[in-house]
Amino acid sequence: MDAQKPLKILQFSAEVTPFAKTGGLADVVGSLPKALRQLGHDVRVVMPRYGRVSPEKFGLQPRAERFPVPLGESSELTTIFEGTIGGGVPVYFVENPRLYDREGIYMYPDDAERFIFFCRAGLELCKQMGWQPDILHCHDWHTAMVPNWMKTIYKDDPFFARTATVYTIHNLAYQGIFGFRVLEIAGVAEQGFIVHPDTADLNQVVDFMARGILFADMINTVSERYAQEILTPEFGERLDPLLRDRRDRLFGILNGIDTEVLNPASDPHIAMNFDVSTLGRRGVNKAALQAEAGLPQLPHVPLIGVISRLADQKGFDLISAIIDPLMRHVECQFVLLGTGEQKYHDMFDRLAKRYPDKMGVFLTFNTPLAQRIYAGSDMFLMPSRFEPCGLGQLIAMRYGSVPVVRATGGLADTVQDYDPRTGVGNGFSFEAYDAMALYTALVRATETYKHSDVWRRLMVRGMKADYSWTASARKYADLYYRALAARAGEHTPAEYDVFKSERVSL
Ligand code: ADP
Repeated sequence: MDAQKPLKILQFSAEVTPFAKTGGLADVVGSLPKALRQLGHDVRVVMPRYGRVSPEKFGLQPRAERFPVPLGESSELTTIFEGTIGGGVPVYFVENPRLYDREGIYMYPDDAERFIFFCRAGLELCKQMGWQPDILHCHDWHTAMVPNWMKTIYKDDPFFARTATVYTIHNLAYQGIFGFRVLEIAGVAEQGFIVHPDTADLNQVVDFMARGILFADMINTVSERYAQEILTPEFGERLDPLLRDRRDRLFGILNGIDTEVLNPASDPHIAMNFDVSTLGRRGVNKAALQAEAGLPQLPHVPLIGVISRLADQKGFDLISAIIDPLMRHVECQFVLLGTGEQKYHDMFDRLAKRYPDKMGVFLTFNTPLAQRIYAGSDMFLMPSRFEPCGLGQLIAMRYGSVPVVRATGGLADTVQDYDPRTGVGNGFSFEAYDAMALYTALVRATETYKHSDVWRRLMVRGMKADYSWTASARKYADLYYRALAARAGEHTPAEYDVFKSERVSL
C-alpha cells in the first residue's frame, strides 16, 4: 500500500467546537481534522444538528433533503446540513427534531438512539454522495456502533469493502451502557450481546465502548500514559481484559490544541494581547480577571485558576479537603469556572461566601471567560484522579499560566515537576492521589512564585512549547494506514475467533 496516498476520512463525533461542546472531545474534533487536511487528506466530520446549532448563525446549507436513514425495522427521513469548522473541512449536520431539539447534549433516556441515528446517517450519506471513505474515525462511545456495523450489517457491502475504522477513546469512564433494545434500533440484534470470558457482564448489557474496542481496526487513546494505564484494573473501568486482548492495536496519541484560536497574541476575548516578548502586558489580564471575579487587584498575590467539569474525576474531593487551610494559611487567590455535579456547585457556592476576598466562583459554561482565566491566572490547577489527556494544562501553558497537576495520564506526559536544584521542569506535579500531596504541590508553587525570575522562566518555557496538532496529526495519519493494512488482512486479528456472539433477551 502506498503510505503517501491522501486519504478520505470521515470523523464521527457527538461534540465539535465551535458548534457543541462540553469538554475536550469537542476541541479535538474541532481542530484535528484541520491539521489532517493540511497534510493533504480529505477530512470531513459528521455530527447531530442539535437545536442550539442555528443554521443562520453558522451559515449552514442544506446538503440532502428528505434523506432516509435506516432505524430499527424501518427508516426515518432527515435533512443533512453542511457547514465547516474552517480550514476547508466540511461538517455534515444530521437533523432530527425528535432526537436533537433539546437543551443539552447528553443524559437523555434515548441517548443510544440519538447517537445511533447520526452515525447511521453519516454512513448512508457517504453512499448518497458517492464519496467512498478510506477511514471512518469514531470518537468515544457515542460513535462506537460504526465499527460494529462495519463487521456486521455493512460487512459485505462493496461500497465499504476497503474502508477501515479507527476508534478513539477520549474517556474510558463514559461507556454508554444500555439494554438489548438498542441493538434492535441499531439493526444488529441478530448478533446479540458480546460474550467475553473475563468481562462477564458484557453478555447482560450493550456497552458501546466495549463494541468500539472490540470491532475497530485500530484503537487509540489520547496520551501514551493513559494508553498504558487503561490496561490495568485500576484505570481499565472493567474493560481492561478486553483492551489487553487488543493491545497489539492500541496506541496513545497526545492531543494538540488549536493554536490559532488559542493564541494570547491575538485572542479577542482577553483584556490585553501578549506573547513571550511582551510578558509585562500579561498583568493587565490578571488585574482584569481579579476585577471580574470581585477580588482585590493585588498584582503580587498568586492567582490559582481552575476550569473544569465539576466531576469526581477531576480531583474535587482533594480540593475540598485542602481548600480551607489553603485559603487561611497561604497568600493566594482562587478563581473557578465550572459546571457539573450539584454537590460541587453547593460546595463552591459556600466557599465563595466564606472567602469573598480570596475566591471567585463562576458556575457556568463560558468559553470567552475560560480564555480570560487562562490569560489572567498565575497557575492552573488540575489534580485529576485520572486524565486521558487533559487540554486545560496545555491551554494554560500556552497562555503563561503554570500548571499544578497530578501526575496521571496526559498530565504526566505533558507536565514535568519543577526541580529547584536543576531548574528542570515546566510546572508542578504530585504522584499520590492524596490531599497532602496536593497541598504540598500548591505550597511549592506559591513559594516558587515569589522568585519572579524563576517563575518567568517557567512561564516562558510553557509558552514556547509546541502544543499544535502538527506532530500528532502525522501520528493519526500513520494509524489510519495501519488500520487500512489491518482491514486488508495484513494484520491478522485474533479476536474474532475468540469472541463469539450469542443472542440473550432481557
Ligand atoms: P474534559 O474533556 O475531561 O472535560 P479537558 O481538559 O480535556 O477535560 O478539556 C476541557 C475543555 O473544556 C477545555 O478546553 C476547557 O477550557 C473547557 N471547559 C471546561 N469547563 C468549562 C467551562 N465551565 N466553561 C468553559 N470552558 C470549559
